[in-house]
Amino acid sequence: MRELHCMCGNHVVADNDERLVYQVLEHAREVHPEMDLTEEQAREMVAAGAYDREDASDTEDTSH
Ligand SMILES: [Zn+2]
Repeated sequence: MRELHCMCGNHVVADNDERLVYQVLEHAREVHPEMDLTEEQAREMVAAGAYDREDASDTEDTSH
């Protein structure tokens, strides 16, 4: 699992970086519409800030 902590305190989790980019985009559209985050910016955020999540316990499922 890959995880990215948002500056709002929420974290976004996905199976891999590619999915994480889209989870970040979805999160931004729902929670931070004023950011008007682009896919390119989401990729940069994931590249710069995502890390492996090793905890296998229940995670907040952000997928739909
Ligand atoms: Zn956020």
